[in-house]
Amino acid sequence: MPTAGNSVLRLLPSIDELLRTPAMDALARQKGRAPVLDATREALQQLRTEIASGDVDQAQITARVDGLPLRVEQQLQRTIAHSLRPVINATGVILHTNLGRAPLSRAALEHLAEVSEGYSNLEFNLSTGERGKRDVHVNRLFAKLLNTAEREVSTIVVNNNAAAVLLALNSLAEDGEVLVSRGELVEIGGSFRIPDVMSKSGAVLREVGTTNRTRIGDYKAAISERTRLLLRVHRSNFQIVGFTEQPSLEELVALGRKHDIPVMEDLGSGEIFDLRSVGVRGEPMIADSLRAGVDVVTYSGDKLLGGPQAGIVSGNPALVAKVSGNPLFRALRVDKMFYAALEATLLAYLREDYDSIPALRMMRISEDALAQRAKQIAERLRASCPNLQVEVIESRSVLGGGAAPGSTLPTRVLGVKSEGLNADELCARLRRWETPIIARVEEERVLLDLRTVESARDEAIVLALESIWQ
Ligand SMILES: *Cc1c(COP(=O)(O)O)cnc(C)c1O
Repeated sequence: MPTAGNSVLRLLPSIDELLRTPAMDALARQKGRAPVLDATREALQQLRTEIASGDVDQAQITARVDGLPLRVEQQLQRTIAHSLRPVINATGVILHTNLGRAPLSRAALEHLAEVSEGYSNLEFNLSTGERGKRDVHVNRLFAKLLNTAEREVSTIVVNNNAAAVLLALNSLAEDGEVLVSRGELVEIGGSFRIPDVMSKSGAVLREVGTTNRTRIGDYKAAISERTRLLLRVHRSNFQIVGFTEQPSLEELVALGRKHDIPVMEDLGSGEIFDLRSVGVRGEPMIADSLRAGVDVVTYSGDKLLGGPQAGIVSGNPALVAKVSGNPLFRALRVDKMFYAALEATLLAYLREDYDSIPALRMMRISEDALAQRAKQIAERLRASCPNLQVEVIESRSVLGGGAAPGSTLPTRVLGVKSEGLNADELCARLRRWETPIIARVEEERVLLDLRTVESARDEAIVLALESIWQ
């Protein structure tokens, strides 16, 4: 009814009138005029829409107008709240790319805060008082962790491994050819595809061998005066099984040496701690590749290394210097926060304090410890929420982040089911909890894997499930 609507609309205060009320004035002083003005405009507009659609009649209008300051405040709370928030990862996927990959260690966070809240010697040599280089801070630690008796290794850091691969290819092979096995033309999530990265780097991809079998002879036959690099790419998120063949790193290195062509390996994950001790096989260790003679390796900082997002290039000092001398390096560099977090993470490796690095701690935690925690939570929930069915179930956790696709870790998960709510709805309510809890649904049950939940958060899981049920 346009006429009725219009007469009701006339009862609405103007923005100015509204902003002059004591409640709104106080809000503006507290939260700032501009956001309060925006929120007021939106709240008024919402009310106008409600009136126009006939939802509000003359009798209700006064109550709605009186409720406007509250609406403004709620609106404001939504707009000035953080959008990026912590969540509880109960998926059991340790390096969950959508949930931020590796959580940082306490030491990394403290060092990051200490270095970033003021000034630092990021690019300043304290002994000479002259300009320094930011890479010295982590290069010295990588040298200790990766140097083998036979060779010297230097390391630089960029924004992520995709950047490291792009930069290394551009620095070492622009306008030349790079030989890659057809079985290694991988796509990693988020549109990182070897052929695309190669073409953006200005190098020409020269495929050798077949999808399942590539021999050293295939590389040898493809070498020409245009060949600049032999590239090995780790198949981080898939496996080729059956009738397969791939030359060893040693064979590739020997071929490269013979023709004076460097060998580069994109390791993806960058393992420093030997995960075979927790039953994870198939992930190459950085030091093993360097020991085999690979000239340059690239890997991520926030996969198995358990540090901040970063792309790391380690290897032969002359080649690494070529990479850091590329003008693109300046465009891909990272800031002091990354160096601080990475430095603290590497120091934990040097101290062999592996459990201080959350991703490693989660991989190393025992099945018994997980079973114990799951049992305790299940018992509490059975006592407090009789309408919930809670079981402890044997399951497997995965590393995630494109690491060791074939390896899983034995775990115990909580399986939660109820009469009143279906599993998808229960999962959705857990996501709406004040610290959202991310779980998965399998066979009509919500599954919560405690491997990726800090034990201090077990209480939050109990409280969330209790509050949904009471
Ligand atoms: C993960 C991965 C990348 C990409 O690394 P980001 O750090 O995500 O950029 C590249 N290559 C391989 C083999 C990988 O596993």
